[in-house]
Amino acid sequence: MTVSIILSTISTVTSMGRRLLSSDKLFCPFCKKSFRQFKDYEGHYYIKEVLVDHFTKNALCPICHSDMRHRFVFQFLKEHTPLFYKPTRILHFAPEPLIEDELRKIASIDYITCDLNPPKEKNSVNIDMTNISFPDASFDAFLNIHVLEHIEDDHKAIRELYRILKVGGWGVIAIPIYGDITFEVANLDSEGRTRMYGIDQHVRLNGLDFFEKLQDVGFNVKIYSIDSVPGKYVDRTASSPHTESDKYLFYCIK
Ligand SMILES: [Zn+2]
Repeated sequence: MTVSIILSTISTVTSMGRRLLSSDKLFCPFCKKSFRQFKDYEGHYYIKEVLVDHFTKNALCPICHSDMRHRFVFQFLKEHTPLFYKPTRILHFAPEPLIEDELRKIASIDYITCDLNPPKEKNSVNIDMTNISFPDASFDAFLNIHVLEHIEDDHKAIRELYRILKVGGWGVIAIPIYGDITFEVANLDSEGRTRMYGIDQHVRLNGLDFFEKLQDVGFNVKIYSIDSVPGKYVDRTASSPHTESDKYLFYCIK
């Protein structure tokens, strides 16, 4: 098992050799349109009982409202996985509609969605992530974006993710990350979780040490930051607590 953190900042260079300036256009890969600006994100929520201003300039696509993390994951899938050129049976947990719509267009993807309590109108499998109702080695890939921070027994859920993958299969996991070390307080009620973790449905603040939980079950893990996935899908000058917590994803290979 190995882990590597891929954090190198890549300068974007035009064909003229000129470094792109922050005033250059932004691009939404879902709308496939360029913009001079995205919409700003405005939100305040508590982190460790401190009310934090998460204002982020140029965060949301003005048309489809995609957030930075949706565009980051989608760009990563295109550039760092075989999903768009190799026939793939993939399980997408609690699917993000923008990503779902794109993946459903691709004939070579055998695309299955699941959720705890899926909407009735959706053709989605009802799944408890700690006890997934698919046999071992059922999938070539999975997507699990902002789900595990909701699950009390995330170790068990991660073991299940490993179990349902074929050997050589891969998965993308993203969760909010706050610093290096995971922070968790036992027996918080709803109000306590809101004041400690930002929203009451979250059960911990994960740190980058989350990768150890993935390694523990057998995954080979690479951590990618948004800085290592180039492109105009994000305003790289717009740093905030919001962008900092959403700038990582974990690429897991069985
Ligand atoms: Zn868009």
